[in-house]
Amino acid sequence: MNKVKLSIFGLSLLALSITFYSCKKGKIVSTGDISITDVVKAKFTSNVTISTSGSGKKSSITLKSNGLPDHKTPYWGVGNVLYEAFPSGHQANANTEMIAQNYSMTIPTNPNEASSKEATSMGEIGMAINGVAIFNDREGGNIPLEAMTVTTFDNSGAHPAPPKNYHYHTTGKYTSVDDAKLIGFLRDGFPIYGRKDTTGVYPTLDAYGGHTGPTQDFPNGIYHYHASNVNYLNTGYYILKAGSYYGTKGTFTN
Ligand SMILES: [Zn+2]
Ligand SMILES: [Zn+2]
Repeated sequence: MNKVKLSIFGLSLLALSITFYSCKKGKIVSTGDISITDVVKAKFTSNVTISTSGSGKKSSITLKSNGLPDHKTPYWGVGNVLYEAFPSGHQANANTEMIAQNYSMTIPTNPNEASSKEATSMGEIGMAINGVAIFNDREGGNIPLEAMTVTTFDNSGAHPAPPKNYHYHTTGKYTSVDDAKLIGFLRDGFPIYGRKDTTGVYPTLDAYGGHTGPTQDFPNGIYHYHASNVNYLNTGYYILKAGSYYGTKGTFTN
């Protein structure tokens, strides 16, 4: 009997030390020690112009793009080499086509949690690594996207708005499909990833759709957003971002 008790005690000690070890190994910091500027320069495609200004805590990164996708979509129009058909049952919205924009997004080099969280608004809330705008889950009238509106999405969960500015509302074929890929950065300077973490699990997210932990680009940990893991209105699309920013938003002009 004593021997059994001793073994159980031993096992408990072992479990306890494993727990301590795991905690130490999993140590994460809020923004990590890898430069966001370096990741932005490495991950954004060459059609996005990147410049930096200021120094230290007040420095910022400015990303400029024409907002047009570098991949296939029916919104290029029949005859274009990048034309592809709509998903079954989908069709163009009233805006029918997309045209080049004059985007300029400025984000902090050292993003931090905002003391008071600001709701994302309609329009551009971030930029994907190919220069396409990221929108939230809202459409005209600031109402959540309706199933009918989703039928105007291409394979990338995108369509143009009235200014004919093509934009992503959800994950899709050319950005992220049930994976941990870097999709882009939101206006507050925090990156947004696909539905999974690099470990292959669907993370538990906070009220802003993010959490702090390691990513492929920031192995020492950073606050980052994930696409929602909810099949939106059972359409097969997954919203990129809803609700408020975690950090303080920078500018996005067009
Ligand atoms: Zn839209
Ligand atoms: Zn994560």
